[in-house]
Amino acid sequence: MPSFTEADIRAGASSQSFSRGMEYYHDGAVLEIIRRGAMITAEVEGSEYEPYEVTITLGASGGIDDADCTCPYTYSGYCKHIVAVLLEVLNNAETVEEKPDLPSLLSGLTEAQLRQLLTDVAAENPHLNQHHRALGHRTAPRRASLHDSSHCATSTDDRYQRYPA
Ligand SMILES: [Zn+2]
Repeated sequence: MPSFTEADIRAGASSQSFSRGMEYYHDGAVLEIIRRGAMITAEVEGSEYEPYEVTITLGASGGIDDADCTCPYTYSGYCKHIVAVLLEVLNNAETVEEKPDLPSLLSGLTEAQLRQLLTDVAAENPHLNQHHRALGHRTAPRRASLHDSSHCATSTDDRYQRYPA
């Protein structure tokens, strides 16, 4: 479970972000919090029509490892949306919806479902097409070991020739 304190949130944000985040939290701007393993995602109503999406990653001890928000805030530290989500998680843990993390979610799917899921994700994320070659190698029927992959061996040799010891 999360094991951070209000002091941790305060320490990670500017005093302005913290007080604005506290207002957001009290106004109920945090719409939906979902926890999958160490990953917490939430939507926060902001100045835009679309809510901002906040992603919090918890460390092994439950502390705040990483926090990210889709808003344009560029100053150092947590933005007000991240502060609002952290306060909500801290003070209203019962509003956090627990869902299986990605590995356990995927392990419950059939091959056909996985195929469909990847197709859907790739359709929404065109840049994923760049990974097709790597995916093809990984799912090739005859699984080449790292050692007999001529591709890897060649690039390693190149590197040694270019940078001799
Ligand atoms: Zn934000």
